[in-house]
Amino acid sequence: MKKSALVADWNTLMRTFIRPDDERTKATLIKYMEQIQFGLHDFLSEHVGITEEVSLKELSDNLSDTRISKNPEKKLADVITDLIEDIAPHAVNITSPYFVGHMTSAIPFFMIHLKTIVAALNQNVVKLETSKVCSVLEKQVLAKIHRMIYQRSESFYKKHVQNTNSTLGSFVECGTLANITALWVARNKLFPPKGNFTDVEHEGIQAAYHAHGVERCVVLVSRLGHYSLRKAGGLLGIGNQNIIPIDIDHNNRVDLKRLNDQMQEIDRDQGKTRILAIIGVAGATETGTIDPLRKIGEICKQRKIHFHVDAAWGGPTIMSEKYRHLFDGIEMADSITIDGHKQFYMPMGCGMVYFRDPHAMDVVAYHANYINRPGSVDLGIKSLSGSREASSLILDSALKIMGSRGYSLLYEHGIETAREFAEEINKRPLFEVITRPELNILTYRLCPNAKGMLSGRNSPKEIQINERLNEINRTVQRLQREAGNSFVSRTTLKILNGSNGINTVVLRCVIMNPMTNMMILREILDEQEDIYRRTFT
Ligand SMILES: *Cc1c(COP(=O)(O)O)cnc(C)c1O
Repeated sequence: MKKSALVADWNTLMRTFIRPDDERTKATLIKYMEQIQFGLHDFLSEHVGITEEVSLKELSDNLSDTRISKNPEKKLADVITDLIEDIAPHAVNITSPYFVGHMTSAIPFFMIHLKTIVAALNQNVVKLETSKVCSVLEKQVLAKIHRMIYQRSESFYKKHVQNTNSTLGSFVECGTLANITALWVARNKLFPPKGNFTDVEHEGIQAAYHAHGVERCVVLVSRLGHYSLRKAGGLLGIGNQNIIPIDIDHNNRVDLKRLNDQMQEIDRDQGKTRILAIIGVAGATETGTIDPLRKIGEICKQRKIHFHVDAAWGGPTIMSEKYRHLFDGIEMADSITIDGHKQFYMPMGCGMVYFRDPHAMDVVAYHANYINRPGSVDLGIKSLSGSREASSLILDSALKIMGSRGYSLLYEHGIETAREFAEEINKRPLFEVITRPELNILTYRLCPNAKGMLSGRNSPKEIQINERLNEINRTVQRLQREAGNSFVSRTTLKILNGSNGINTVVLRCVIMNPMTNMMILREILDEQEDIYRRTFT
């Protein structure tokens, strides 16, 4: 029987805007939601990561039609079924405890409910008139996280929590936008009005340089800094070549001597080069390591340089009383990036930036007169994002459900499992740990017949062995990924040897899923050994 063709007419259209009031339609909609919550979970028992089962080529061939149909193609029920049957199985099963390669992982079940509520309310926190209580709540949540990091006095938070003239931070969509916001503030702060020059936001970077007799601005950050900082360099007009990578020490932390050398070199430039910010990484994307924040903070304080801490990954770990000490000095930071969709286990789309000075964001305030007026409470005035969802509602609810102790248990599990995993790796003759876990991230590699043999002098012979190991690790990682039982990621680190790094391909493991345990991690190593033996011996 041929189905009757769907047509777009006014009546059907109206039905999509009106809440159904008959019981049958309601029941159908509830059934769909059930399918989304539970049906989606069935595909998760299948493969982990990207497999070759259905090739990317095949998928892209199937998704190449670029026409929009004039009349509706499908009903809601069919669209949902398609998503569950045709899309979900080819998405990546990030919720598996065997998926330990990235900073994206399983989230608590209730997050989907919270996200659904946010979507249903569909508030726009760009301004009060489209969000009301959600804007007020956002200020409260910002103050809660600010307090968690900076631990200022009760009276400080009383004064600022709902103060419409001050801002403790800002929600954005990701860590990248949070980092850009922080450097945006730092840039505008660096170029105050001078003579005829009013401000950099208004007149642009060239006028600012001219007025202040500057030729170049730089940002100093460890070589392990995230590439979003380079995007900020480009966007803010200082040039991404001026995000200067500083070498790291044997613990993968920024080398303070190198940092000082770099600053001295800049000093010799007699003020023509200005340091816009120094960044401490608190949980490097590749290694999870934390820079010496207090030391960097002291340098910045002494020289009056903006100190930004990129804690997109590590930030929430501060809640753990056991590991808070790893972030010693973070309260000296002028600004701090924290991602919601990483270790707050929120659904995608939440980053945050915090400022020690509640008036720091004044230098990026915008007053479009049709949307918000000076002194108004509209959050859009000081936010890089325009319209955006009320993600503070998700974070606030999650904090209530989990408590800081609940979240801490997750971080402690991750860190302690990572440590135990590192021991297991080093016990096995075929492997060596490359970067020890400080948080819940570590890197290692297969090093058959070469364990502990590389002196680090980078002789031609050693470079040759290293090349061979790189090839082995690339291959094993790819074959494991394609087999689809587990997923460990791969990156290339410059491992420090005297003054020269040598490019070393490593396997990278991020342990954030509470279901990931040593049994699973041993299985992952077994599989890697297996693949190696089958392929190379
Ligand atoms: C993930 C990450 C970022 C970028 O965050 P997005 O949310 O992916 O934009 C920035 N810095 C660090 C250290 C990160 O780990």
